[in-house]
Amino acid sequence: MSTDQPTVLLVEDEPAQREVLSYNLEADGFRVTTAENGEEALLLVDEEAPDLIVLDWMLPNVSGIEVCRQLKTRPDTRGVPILMLSARSEEVDRVRGLETGADDYVIKPYSVIELMARVRALLRRTRPAALGQRLEYEDIVLDSETHRVTRDDKPLKLGPTEFRLLSTFMEKPGRVWSREQLLDRVWGRDIYVDTRTVDVHIGRLRKALCQHGGGDPLRTVRGAGYALG
Ligand code: CA
Repeated sequence: MSTDQPTVLLVEDEPAQREVLSYNLEADGFRVTTAENGEEALLLVDEEAPDLIVLDWMLPNVSGIEVCRQLKTRPDTRGVPILMLSARSEEVDRVRGLETGADDYVIKPYSVIELMARVRALLRRTRPAALGQRLEYEDIVLDSETHRVTRDDKPLKLGPTEFRLLSTFMEKPGRVWSREQLLDRVWGRDIYVDTRTVDVHIGRLRKALCQHGGGDPLRTVRGAGYALG
């Protein structure tokens, strides 16, 4: 499996809608994981660390609005962009959706083409690395198209795993990633790898980042994981 594909979590309780959207997102190059209700969505966010969430407003039990509110108050999920889908078209609901923290809002019935355009625009704004662009953090520059990394303009030698780790960190500087989230994201969740493997590769990444000098930009957060800066 390719772990370079951006992951979209699609939360929609209507099977037909879920199927159409999954199909189109996959055709557009996304890895899609689906949830039928709010509880499942909240669990999958932890397991999958998605790049973006497409969230239906009207869900059984825990509503889309409540899922959105919870995710936007948690420090580890606050930065994940959320696109809300809703059949409600009143302006007041739109405002409420955005106040809850949704990053964008699409009214049903929507055109699939428009929805795909909004997904890509939202990712471009919030997760540029997911779409293959240049990321910068202080003196470190990572180009996810050419797979080149420089620090203070000097090229860095990085293994493929270290590259994916760094790319994950550089998408969201400051975000704390648990070892499990890094495993899912960098190795893929279908592969069995011990969490200590993460520590080994973090060690290699640290060494690689400092190969021409400079301080260690990675932070170990005791009991939680790792963060850049
Ligand atoms: Ca619904």
